[in-house]
Amino acid sequence: MAKLRQIAIYGKGGIGKSTTTQNTVAALAENGKKVMVVGCDPKADSTRLLLNGVVQKTVLDTLRDEGEDVELDDILKPGFRGTRCVESGGPEPGVGCAGRGIITSINMLETLGAYTDDLNYVFYDVLGDVVCGGFAMPIREGKAQEIYIVASGEMMALYAANNIAKGIKKFADSGTVRLGGIICNSRKVDNELELLKAFASELGSQLIHFVPRDNMVQKAEINKKTVIDFNPTEPQAEEYRTLARNIDANQMFVIPKPMTQDRLEELMMAYGILD
Ligand code: ADP
Ligand code: MG
Repeated sequence: MAKLRQIAIYGKGGIGKSTTTQNTVAALAENGKKVMVVGCDPKADSTRLLLNGVVQKTVLDTLRDEGEDVELDDILKPGFRGTRCVESGGPEPGVGCAGRGIITSINMLETLGAYTDDLNYVFYDVLGDVVCGGFAMPIREGKAQEIYIVASGEMMALYAANNIAKGIKKFADSGTVRLGGIICNSRKVDNELELLKAFASELGSQLIHFVPRDNMVQKAEINKKTVIDFNPTEPQAEEYRTLARNIDANQMFVIPKPMTQDRLEELMMAYGILD
């Protein structure tokens, strides 16, 4: 029986969580791993590259339309190389707590037997600059044990990452959830690699991989595919394989030590991004 690893991916909106998650999952699947992806963003676009654009009805919409008669096939669709794709969905913007969909979805998936013994990984692609109430669900309920934060050298991405680290610390102090590392999704900021290494190490963590910015990502996206699916021989596909390998081999799981605002700004200043 595989030892299941449940991973939550956090980071500022637009930073590249869904793209990075799906490409990493594609690399793991290519390597024979059994993976489920649970989109926890009301935008419900966490699995479209794995599903090649097939529209995935969200768990919340399915529940609304079908009542209690939901079957696993209604909410879990097979994607690239057998990956299992779920979108939890959310309420209409501005109405209700978006985090509720995550709770409902995870419970539903459990009831319907989606967490099978042969699974190696579950990835939760979670919206959130702050790990607030509902969005903390995958880690609060002890589902995800392992967290990666996607960031870049841009100030707002680092502010968000540090805030997320504060949220994680709260849950880590009283539980078993740990930070596995920072993923840099490059925005081609000066000294970005050095800055992100320093940022990760200041948190007591590590930079698990530096993913370059590459237009191939958009080209694949237009074709509704991950880079790994669209063009497996591209250097960018290799970057995602490296990230997947690093996550697969990761042994460093910590309770993060978030920075004060002053310390964070000092760090950014030291690497020249606040010039
Ligand atoms: P999030 O899920 O964090 O909101 P997305 O994964 O949807 O962010 O990414 C936002 C946009 O950034 C997407 O259109 C995607 O194509 C682009 N993107 C993400 N990563 C890269 C990259 N490494 N190189 C180029 N474009 C990228
Ligand atoms: Mg997303």
